[in-house]
This record gives sequence, structure tokens and C-alpha cells, in this order.
Amino acid sequence: MENTIAAISTASGNAGIGIIRLSGKNCFDILDKIFIPKNKNKIKGYSIKYGNIINPENNEIIDEVLVSYFISPNSFTRENMCEINSHGGMTVERKILELCLKNGADLASPGEFTKRAFLNGRIDLSQAESIIDLINSKSDKEAKESIKGLKGEISEKIEEIEKKITDVMVNIEVIVDYPEYDVPEITNDEALKQLKNIEIMLENLEKSFERGKLIRDGIKTVIFGKPNAGKSSLLNAILNEDRAIVSEIEGTTRDTIEEFINIDGLSLKLIDTAGIRDTENKIEKIGVEKSKKLAKEADLIIAIFDLSRDFEEEDKQIIDIIKDKNAIIVLNKVDIKQENNNIEDKIKSLCKPIIKMSALKKDGLNDLYEKIIEIFKLNNIDNGNEVIITNERHKNQIRKAYQNIVNGEDAIKNNMPIDISSIYIKQALEDLGEITGKNASEDIINEIFKKFCLGK
Ligand code: GDP
Repeated sequence: MENTIAAISTASGNAGIGIIRLSGKNCFDILDKIFIPKNKNKIKGYSIKYGNIINPENNEIIDEVLVSYFISPNSFTRENMCEINSHGGMTVERKILELCLKNGADLASPGEFTKRAFLNGRIDLSQAESIIDLINSKSDKEAKESIKGLKGEISEKIEEIEKKITDVMVNIEVIVDYPEYDVPEITNDEALKQLKNIEIMLENLEKSFERGKLIRDGIKTVIFGKPNAGKSSLLNAILNEDRAIVSEIEGTTRDTIEEFINIDGLSLKLIDTAGIRDTENKIEKIGVEKSKKLAKEADLIIAIFDLSRDFEEEDKQIIDIIKDKNAIIVLNKVDIKQENNNIEDKIKSLCKPIIKMSALKKDGLNDLYEKIIEIFKLNNIDNGNEVIITNERHKNQIRKAYQNIVNGEDAIKNNMPIDISSIYIKQALEDLGEITGKNASEDIINEIFKKFCLGK
């Protein structure tokens, strides 16, 4: 890249320090004009100098700073880079940025540093996308998956599949291009076997997206029960608990309350619903229908039953909805339990985890957390080293590649000329290449980097 770019890389607002970043061929020349270091020795990469930022027009001191130096190609962008650590706060940071721009730098667009890292070959596209995911992550688990992507694990997996596709294609193309050569011919059966293997790998990777979604978007958890069962009390009890870290992400909708919480690294999107009850009131009816729909779409239902009241028609409706879902049953109000109530008998046959608690007294919350962790950590999300797809664009490309491999198999099965199959297989390779960016179009690349924040 010919020009040198500059941006404020830290979040705006008052803070101890702020960082202004520069990248490009002329970044040290620009710095020379506005920075007077105490130590005048020749600069070295991975080193820091102390000094003053000055306005070269009148020598006014703007701030006392530390500057870190990175010499090409050993930097994030592979270009010459420096980071000016100034005092925080918008006035100082903006003044320094303005001086950089006045003295030869261009203002970086969002994600331009990372885009340069990609264009200069330091990271591939899926790694760049993992950086956005890491910056935006809402839970430990999501951050951990992003780090895996950043380290290149998704790319490695894609490349492994690409290699297998290339192998099949080479074998097929030899037949197409040089039928006269005496090369060991790949039989249709052998090609089909290899393609099936690739199909399964792609299918598994695509399936991992569903789990990835739980990591990225949070486990959609609906609190469900008849009116006065204690739904709001439970939500409040959870939100006031130390162990559940309530995040500040907004999500409150018109008629349901949504809150993000973190339990041992799992992100839960908690949704409190309107109570389930038979009603003639039109507006209330809409609310009830909406609750039922939410429950059906949920990853987890916390179904609350009121131990102080008898089992009623509404409770039966709740049982019908939760029976085929991931659900935890909460028997609430143990503190005022009625001796002869028949609820426990009715729910036993559901074979769902049951927790007795008092939402009011916050008794039993830990048991609830343990169950949630048990359901999601062990069985679904946390299976160690497996690559999980969390990015929707990647999933779509994998889906396309999968379809092309299936089409390639069908072509062989239907005894079509082998070059028809070869067209599909080649297309699958291109689909996967768009994930790592080997053959992503300019538009896709621009679209991806637009999602970055300024200064990254
Ligand atoms: P919702 O309509 O399902 O959201 O129910 P609320 O959370 O508003 O609770 C309804 C009533 O039951 C309130 O008066 C609560 O104080 C009370 N309540 C909720 N949980 C408990 C509990 O565990 N024990 C007792 N004794 N009362 C509770």
C-alpha cells in the first residue's frame, strides 16, 4: 500500500491512556515531524521510546507519550507501524490524530489495519473475521472460539477438505484431459467413496454451526409458566446473583424482557414471557400465543410450576409444549408448598430435570445453574478440540460446497460424462476458497472489513 494510514484505536471517552496507530511506508517520517523522543538512537522494531508530541508549526507540546515501533514485515499489517500511547480523552487523542493527518497520513477506514494484514498475507479472511468476533464476543466461550479461528484452525480444517477435493479432481481430470495416457484410472466407485467422505466432513462442519450459534448468540432461554408462578421473581433472582454476570447488551423488546447473562462461560439470553393462561382478552391472547411461539423456538425452557397451587389446565398446556424440548422444570415456592398438591405426580413422567426452589428466597438457584451447565457444557458445546463454525458466511459457503459435492456424486451415479461431475467439484473448491479469501471477490472483502471498528 502506498499511503500511510492513521486512526485512534482505543474507545472514545475519558481514560488513562489512548492509542493512535499508524501504518504504512512513511509512518516513521510522519512521526519524525511531530515526535521528539528523549532517546535519539536509531529506531528498532519491538521497542518503545519516550518523548513529546509537538505541533511542528509552533513547537507547542501536545502530550507526553510513549511510542512503540514495529518495522516491516514484523508488524500486524506487515508494514512499518507505530502506536502512540498518549493520555486518554478525546481532546488529546484527536489533536494527535489531526497532526498525523496534517503531516502526511490518511484517515484509516474501519478495519483498514486488519484489511492490510489480510492483503499483505499475514492473516487470511477467516482469521480476520475471527478478530471481529473476538472484539464483539459476549462470553468466555465465544472468545475462546474466536481465538481458535484467529489461530487459523478454521482455515486449517477448510484446507484439509480442499486438499481432499483436489485429490479427487486431479484423478478425474487426468481421465478428462489425457484419456490416451496410461494413468491408473480412478473408478467411479472409488471417486464416489472419496466424494462421500468429503460430503460427510462438510456436513459435520455445517452442523457445528448450530452449536456455534449457541456460543455466539447465547443460549435462547425462555422462562415459561402460568401467571404468578414466579417467572419474574426467578428472573430477578438470577439477575441479582453474583454468579450470573449480567451483561449490558440491550435486548428488551416490547412485550418480553431479554437479558444476557454469563454462567461459567456460557452465555444465556434469558427471555421472560407473558404468563400462559386461557383468556378471552384479545391483547392478552396475542401475548400468550407469542410466549408459546418463543418457547417452541427456544434452546432451553425453564418451566415454572407453582407448588402452592393445584395442577391446572394451563400447567397441562405447558407440559405439552416442553415435552420434546430441552427443558428444566422448576417447582417454585417450596417455602409455602401445599401438602396435597398433585403437581409432582403429573410431571414425573416427563423425564426432565426437576429443581425445587424458592425464587422469592433465592433458594435453589445453584442447582438450576448446575443443570444448565450439565445440559450445555458437556453434551453440546464443549467438546474440546473440534472446530466449530460460528460465522454465518462460513456456514453458507460450506453449505454451497456441500451441495456441489452432492451434485458431483449424483452426476457420477447417473452415468453422466465425468467432466460434468468435475465442474461441480471444482465449484465446491471455489466455494471453500471464499472462506479463507483465496478467491473472494473485492465486494465480499469490502463487506467484511466494513464491520470492523475504527482503528482496528
Ligand atoms: P409471574 O407472574 O410468573 O412473573 O410471577 P411473579 O414473579 O410476579 O410472582 C407472583 C407472586 O408470587 C408474587 O407475589 C411473588 O412474590 C410470589 N412468589 C414468587 N416466587 C415465590 C416463592 O418462591 N415463594 C413465595 N412464597 N412466593 C413467591
